[in-house]
Amino acid sequence: MPIPIHDLQQAPGALKRLPLRKAAALFVVAVSLCLFGLLYLQLEQSRRQDLAVAQMASSNLTRAMAQQAEDTFLAADLVMTSLVDWIQDDGYGAAQRPRLQRTFARRVQQLSQLHGMFLFDQQGQWVLTSFNDLPHDINVADREYFKFHQQNASTVAHIGPAIRNREDGEWIIPISKRVNDRAGNFQGVLLAGIKMAYFDQFFKSFSLDDNGIMFLGLTDGTLLARRPFDESLIGTSLAQGEIYQKLLPNAAAGTAMINSVVDGVTRLYGYRQLASYPLVVSAATSRDTILKGWYERAFQSSVIVALVILGIGLFGWVFIHQVRDGERIEKNLRKAQRSLEQIATHDSLTGLANRRLFERSLEIEFARGARQVSPVSLIMLDIDFFKRYNDAYGHVAGDHCLTQVAQVLKNCCQRKSDLAVRYGGEEFAVLLPDTDINGALAIAGQIRRSVIDKRITHSGSPTEYLTVSLGCYSFIPNGNDSPEVFIQRADAALYQAKNAGRNRAAVLSPEDGLAELMRSDR
Ligand code: GH3
Ligand code: MG
Ligand code: MG
Repeated sequence: MPIPIHDLQQAPGALKRLPLRKAAALFVVAVSLCLFGLLYLQLEQSRRQDLAVAQMASSNLTRAMAQQAEDTFLAADLVMTSLVDWIQDDGYGAAQRPRLQRTFARRVQQLSQLHGMFLFDQQGQWVLTSFNDLPHDINVADREYFKFHQQNASTVAHIGPAIRNREDGEWIIPISKRVNDRAGNFQGVLLAGIKMAYFDQFFKSFSLDDNGIMFLGLTDGTLLARRPFDESLIGTSLAQGEIYQKLLPNAAAGTAMINSVVDGVTRLYGYRQLASYPLVVSAATSRDTILKGWYERAFQSSVIVALVILGIGLFGWVFIHQVRDGERIEKNLRKAQRSLEQIATHDSLTGLANRRLFERSLEIEFARGARQVSPVSLIMLDIDFFKRYNDAYGHVAGDHCLTQVAQVLKNCCQRKSDLAVRYGGEEFAVLLPDTDINGALAIAGQIRRSVIDKRITHSGSPTEYLTVSLGCYSFIPNGNDSPEVFIQRADAALYQAKNAGRNRAAVLSPEDGLAELMRSDR
């Protein structure tokens, strides 16, 4: 269906625009979020991977530590077992002592982890040692390991808390065994000192960060050896720590991330309890060291993603501004187009439709009338004695008079489809689609009366007021009608109205073209 020309200016506004700016902003936000998400997933994955590798390394390290501790104590244990068997068979009488002392010294020489060996009798008084010149007044009856062996028939090795040698100040870890006679009676204690330095050297052979920790402890929590070495900590208890409290009761070996209450450093701890001795080993690496590479990668990736997002954001900003500028230009263009349309289709003095729009509307309404079999009516209007008006009041007043008549026409065109036209000079037309002759006559009468009601003084008119004459014509288009004939018929009716004395409306019958004059009071 063709759009009426006088409706055309509303048409562009009816088109729904895509919200490009919103879409662009959404796109930028969505892409940025996706990039953030990808970055997060990738970093989280690589962090987990780094931690898993560190866990494996920690687990391997504690396994190596456990093996070394076991080997160290086992070697001493085997030597002591053979000596205890020997003493059990031969005793440690005066005859045996020189040989025993030489054997002690040789074994200590052979095993680099050994500091010395000591044999105490059943009263805790020393009998002989691997040293040649040890003071003779040592009694260990009150020592924990002596009491342990005195009270326990078991011949398994006992490992005690680290002690500091009174002679050379060296820290040693005591491993002791009960000495029996052939009948199984308590005859004393054989004690070997394991050098703490032996563990220190072993611990130092591993590369560990500044915050890293390695330690060897008893299962009761007593600390035996530690890297970094801290004399004040040796012999203290770790029993309240997380490893002894929470981890060891559940599993003999494992790894865990623990936040130190002492220095606030979070470390990955690997720990392992030995199967054959009451010992626990543990190694810890600070989380920051484990994740050092990850932190660097995370920083680089974040910078790259931030730059990309910044680029996308900038692009989006420029794009949105371009779109906004484009929209503004388009709006101005549309406004200009509407003004041009208005200028091209309307009369500048009265604001009514001009002949161009009138002719286009005629075509459209003819087609519509033919399709819908509905009548189309036309009123032609001419101001009476207008030449005289101009002569009497001047052209400016004449123009003003024309705008007043035009205003009357606008007011009388109630329907949206009605079209008031300035046909030329002081002649007007009103196109009334879907209106029969009676409707047209009614509107013509209304117009005529409204003009009189304006009381525009006109000295040249017999009525002394401005009046108009109107010619009405109405027909049902059949699709092949000529607009010119249509106008001519209405014009003929107007001519009849003029001839009949003006200030009236006349109708031209469509059948025979006869003018039917209407009285001015209709
Ligand atoms: P009639 O009753 O027979 O129509 O007498 P009339 O004087 O109105 O005769 P006609 O219709 O021929 O007169 C047209 C006059 O309208 C001529 C001109 O002075 C005047 N006129 C035409 N266009 C304009 C216009 O745009 N402004 C003004 N002020 N006058 C116009
Ligand atoms: Mg005229
Ligand atoms: Mg006239």
